[in-house]
Amino acid sequence: MEIESSEQALAQIASQLGESQAVVRTQTKLNSEQQHLEEFGRQQHDAEWEIDDLVNKLTTAEEKLYNGRIKDPRELTNLQHEVDGLRVRQNNLEDKALEIMDQVELSTVSVATLRNELKILENEWQSQQQQLSTDMEQLKTTLSDLRHKRQLLSANVDSQAIELYQELKKQKGQALAKVEQGICRGCRILLPTTELQRARGDSLVQCSSCGRILFLP
Ligand SMILES: [Zn+2]
Repeated sequence: MEIESSEQALAQIASQLGESQAVVRTQTKLNSEQQHLEEFGRQQHDAEWEIDDLVNKLTTAEEKLYNGRIKDPRELTNLQHEVDGLRVRQNNLEDKALEIMDQVELSTVSVATLRNELKILENEWQSQQQQLSTDMEQLKTTLSDLRHKRQLLSANVDSQAIELYQELKKQKGQALAKVEQGICRGCRILLPTTELQRARGDSLVQCSSCGRILFLP
């Protein structure tokens, strides 16, 4: 039974070793947020270039408008329209640039938060994995000791009893049943006194109800 429970504990540990879902999820979120940030950065850069370009055009157009060299009223009116149109575009672009800046700021905060979360999760995961590895090594040692002990003990047990034990184990999961206060713990039935007396002796006695080998501690 100790061997079995150690084997179960070992399997449980083995299933916990390896990648952490929380780490993977946070890493994925961080990657996607970093991509957003890069994209916003590009948009911000593009908007700044466009604004620069517009400001240059505006300066040239205004210079032409106010330097007094153009006398034709029609031409002057057209130029004034051009300047007005450029100003509107400049204002729109500046609004857009501000919105992008807000998004860059938000995204920067998100990236920093996710980086922190990831660091904490990775540290936790690492120490958990270390603990699991240590537990695993201990369990392996315990198991090998128990198996050795089992081997030594079974050398002194007659082969028929071992066969019966293995058959019962296959059928019922547990071949032995502890007897407590006259009750078989395998099937929870009160055992007849004669059966109890025989079980107290040296001979191998099976529970008349469930068939398990009775064991009096
Ligand atoms: Zn029983």
